[in-house]
Amino acid sequence: MIDIDKIRADFPILNEKVNGKPLVYLDNAATSQTPIQVINSIVDYYSKINSNIHRGVHTLSQKATDAYEQARIKVQKHFNAKNNYEIILTAGTTHSINIVATGFTSILKKDDEIIVSALEHHSNIVPWQMLCERTGAILKVIPMNEEGELLMNEYNNLLSEKTKLVFVNHVSNALGTINPIEEIIKKAHNVGAAVLIDGAQSCPHIKPDVQKLDVDFYVASAHKLCGPTGVGMLYGKEEWLNKLPPYQGGGEMIKEVTFEKTTYADLPHKFEAGTPNIAGGIAFGTALDYMNEIGFNNIAAYENELLTYATTKLLEIEGLKIYGTSKNKTSVISFNIGSIHPYDIGSIIDKLGIAVRTGHHCAQPIMDFYKIPGTVRASFSFYNTKKEIELLVEALKRAKTMLS
Ligand SMILES: *Cc1c(COP(=O)(O)O)cnc(C)c1O
Repeated sequence: MIDIDKIRADFPILNEKVNGKPLVYLDNAATSQTPIQVINSIVDYYSKINSNIHRGVHTLSQKATDAYEQARIKVQKHFNAKNNYEIILTAGTTHSINIVATGFTSILKKDDEIIVSALEHHSNIVPWQMLCERTGAILKVIPMNEEGELLMNEYNNLLSEKTKLVFVNHVSNALGTINPIEEIIKKAHNVGAAVLIDGAQSCPHIKPDVQKLDVDFYVASAHKLCGPTGVGMLYGKEEWLNKLPPYQGGGEMIKEVTFEKTTYADLPHKFEAGTPNIAGGIAFGTALDYMNEIGFNNIAAYENELLTYATTKLLEIEGLKIYGTSKNKTSVISFNIGSIHPYDIGSIIDKLGIAVRTGHHCAQPIMDFYKIPGTVRASFSFYNTKKEIELLVEALKRAKTMLS
């Protein structure tokens, strides 16, 4: 059960006014809000133990190192990785994907094939296109249907012994579709391909188990999980992380440096060049603690209730069309009203204090599929309420009257 009043009291920003109106924050798929516990852990770090990690013998440095490594273990436990050194702390999902995409440059050969899905975020398309340019590998795309679901038969047809890598998001940020990643992973492994799952959009709702999934790489961002921006994780199976070369050269990632030859540090430090976002990493751990205390089953059940309520209420608005109608979806609703431009709707309801996303949501190929320039996207988190959904619906009705 969700104690909504208690939860809302943890989020100072929910008391803010925007344009003179109480904030109604429905842009959670872009970034989540931050509870006071997470904010405090950042303040505490800088107030009490700020120091560089893994280097100093002095007390503060040891305390900072301990706190940072503790956070890594929290991430490891949360994702159920076998070893803590299989968790690389990064600057976020995009950074994590680039570590893998760059690493595969030395592994792929001309005419090898990479499969991505039609539902990808740009950060899960562009790095692979760049990898194909460097290696001569070929990018193939799993198509989707009107409901916003991947066509699994087409996926079967794309797979062959040429397939070396498969990259799919667990949940589409533009439509909310939950993809059948267990099946995607199993089938890729049958032809000997590695799989990277982009969990940026699923992790706020679903707790993944990377060992059970048997996935090769899994990536996520802290800022969609009630944590700070500019922090994230890359899980990789030990054998894969050992196979990939380092992404950046610098301090922290070396064992020994001479001008003739440098040897690299062991995992995870091989991929963690330079001084990281130490406070951010620690706060990521605090954010996972916070969400686990509420419980992901409770979060998913409550958000589903919000999704069902909002879907029903929104469809009462004449001319409103929802994009992404898979039965298996998270609390994201992408829609348009008649031929009104999404930007116009977003601007008007912003004046009423309501924050939604408008545009292509970093997923232009999906918008091209539906032949639309973009959508309005409302995305709900466990701290939203039915009352806020009612305010959204009222505001949309007003915007519609003004714009048609
Ligand atoms: C947000 C998001 C990303 C990008 O995450 P960053 O934190 O901006 O690196 C990638 N993929 C999906 C599905 C997302 O929702």
